[in-house]
Amino acid sequence: MMVIRALAGAAVAGAITAGARKTRSLSESGQWAAFFCGILAAAAGWWWAGLLIAFFLTSTALTRWRAPEKMQKTEGTLPRATERNATQVLANGGLFVLFAFGAQYTGRERLAFAALGALAAASSDTWSTEVGTALGGMPRMISTWKPVEPGLSGGVSFAGFGAGIAGALFIALVGAFAIPHHRTQLAIAAALGGFAGCVADSLIGATLQSKRFCDRCRHWTERRVHACGYRTRHARGIYWLSNDLVNLCCTFVGAATAVVAGWLLTR
Ligand SMILES: [Zn+2]
Repeated sequence: MMVIRALAGAAVAGAITAGARKTRSLSESGQWAAFFCGILAAAAGWWWAGLLIAFFLTSTALTRWRAPEKMQKTEGTLPRATERNATQVLANGGLFVLFAFGAQYTGRERLAFAALGALAAASSDTWSTEVGTALGGMPRMISTWKPVEPGLSGGVSFAGFGAGIAGALFIALVGAFAIPHHRTQLAIAAALGGFAGCVADSLIGATLQSKRFCDRCRHWTERRVHACGYRTRHARGIYWLSNDLVNLCCTFVGAATAVVAGWLLTR
């Protein structure tokens, strides 16, 4: 049964990722990573696979929504890239597919809680980033509450906050049907995990993540080469702690929070 699901998953994931490559939502490496994530999710179960598709389609749609306008706003802080590469795909979906597959393979409910918490966090973070950049106006740094440039990690807005809650709830409600029992508890735990992961992402992004500075424009940025063409220098945070690693931390916090909340709720 698992083999049949994996084969069907390969067919569907192949079609969806090819489409995403064609519309430039995924890079070539990102297409491969998403393809294998899709197979693993389908091997874990139909509902897990459907949930991953729901996450992928909503995230991709929100990323494309008002894309030129968002790119203009974040030009000084973020690299100009619309295609998600393998590192970005795995940072968002890697833990989810591993936990979902583990849940199916071992029959442990706790792993299902971890899987859904991880994906709810990835969804919450993506929705809040995309909606916040488009509608949030001037974001404020979560740690100091000072206005910062749009796109800079750690910057938050009320619009982004609301979208983050919606993104976590969406995955929590749809995903709760992936297991036969404890669905209400799973939905609550995953929503909490998703939101905790999103907040953790902003907190780590504000404090520990590597931040760069352009000496020519005197601007904080995450670009190695600034929009002005000047090479930026590492100025704050941990040098190797990139945005992708922070996203991975975000999904890990989501998984851990959902497991603890699930344990408290089902005890
Ligand atoms: Zn510059």
